[in-house]
Amino acid sequence: MASKVYFTDMRAGFKKSLLDKVERLFDQAGMPAIIGRKELVALKLHFGEKGNTGYIRPQFLRRIVNKVKGLGGKPFLTDANTLYFGSRDNAYNHLQTAIENGFAYAVVDAPLIIADGLTGKDYINVEINRKHFKEVKIASAAYHADAIIALTHFKGHEMTGFGGVLKNLGMGLGSRSGKQNMHSDVLPSVNPDRCKGCERCSQWCPAQAINLQGKVSVVDESKCIGCGECTVTCPVHAIDINWKTRPEAIQEKIVEYAEGALKNKKGKYGFITFVTNVSPDCDCYGWSDAPLVKDIGILASLDPVAIDQACIDLVNQEVALPNTRLEGKPGVRDIFRSLYPDIDWNRQLAYAEEIGLGSRQYELIKCD
Ligand code: SF4
Ligand code: SF4
Repeated sequence: MASKVYFTDMRAGFKKSLLDKVERLFDQAGMPAIIGRKELVALKLHFGEKGNTGYIRPQFLRRIVNKVKGLGGKPFLTDANTLYFGSRDNAYNHLQTAIENGFAYAVVDAPLIIADGLTGKDYINVEINRKHFKEVKIASAAYHADAIIALTHFKGHEMTGFGGVLKNLGMGLGSRSGKQNMHSDVLPSVNPDRCKGCERCSQWCPAQAINLQGKVSVVDESKCIGCGECTVTCPVHAIDINWKTRPEAIQEKIVEYAEGALKNKKGKYGFITFVTNVSPDCDCYGWSDAPLVKDIGILASLDPVAIDQACIDLVNQEVALPNTRLEGKPGVRDIFRSLYPDIDWNRQLAYAEEIGLGSRQYELIKCD
């Protein structure tokens, strides 16, 4: 059955600013029904890396915060720490970056909570029993919230073709070691030139698979379960993060994490996606390259698959803009495939539909 996806374009006017339109989309998509009085409501977004400018503007978050408060809910803005070492790799840096990017309490009127805690070790194992994972590691604050609304900036992504709701939920709400599991099919190894022999890794290893041999630690591959805890624990980054995985596999893994993130929230989730500033790369970069297509609009739905499908279809109806990374590629029909020829972004949608996360069939309902 086709899922409903609500869409508003970029036109604005008197009593019809984009902020007003987002509020209307919230109502039209049925979000009030997922929020109860005094419930904790996670507003999952990407605060943007330092230097990035593509993320959703904080003013929109304030409007959503006001809507949730108006329904008696207790909203908070949240995201989990990154796997790579950047400006959001622990809660201290992450909050600092979020505030610098405009998400201060005075602006958004709600607290910011880093979902997997100070160093990314606050997570809940959620059983899913799927092809890649039996359990996924979901950032604790998101898991414990009563309801979740994912606010997503739709853009390109070098590993999944595009980044939409599934990516925002799956990769975004995996703990740091969960992110390592999604990113890599390879067991970690210690770089002996960097290891200081502090043994922090062995204290965190749940399989006793990494131990000091002489002055440096070594991974025992016969015991290692590939959980990734050591890679995110080492203070001197001596345990290599291996980013190697096949594009189909990482997309399926992200979908399994998205399922885990929603598993205890049946009837308690909704999605709002901004197809604006459609940059070629994800907001984890410290820049935002020129948008590939014109700003298209804002979408809302209760189905995470349908909304991603609708977004990609809308993007692919557009003409690639000049002076972008698609310059010199006339007649592009598939914007992200053209940008990342080796990545078939369809896989994330097909797999999500296969496991029952939502439907690729949708009815696009235009709103004012
Ligand atoms: S990946 Fe996990 S099991 Fe393997 S050595 Fe690191 S902490 Fe231990
Ligand atoms: S945590 Fe890092 S530096 Fe310390 S022993 Fe393990 S690999 Fe070496």
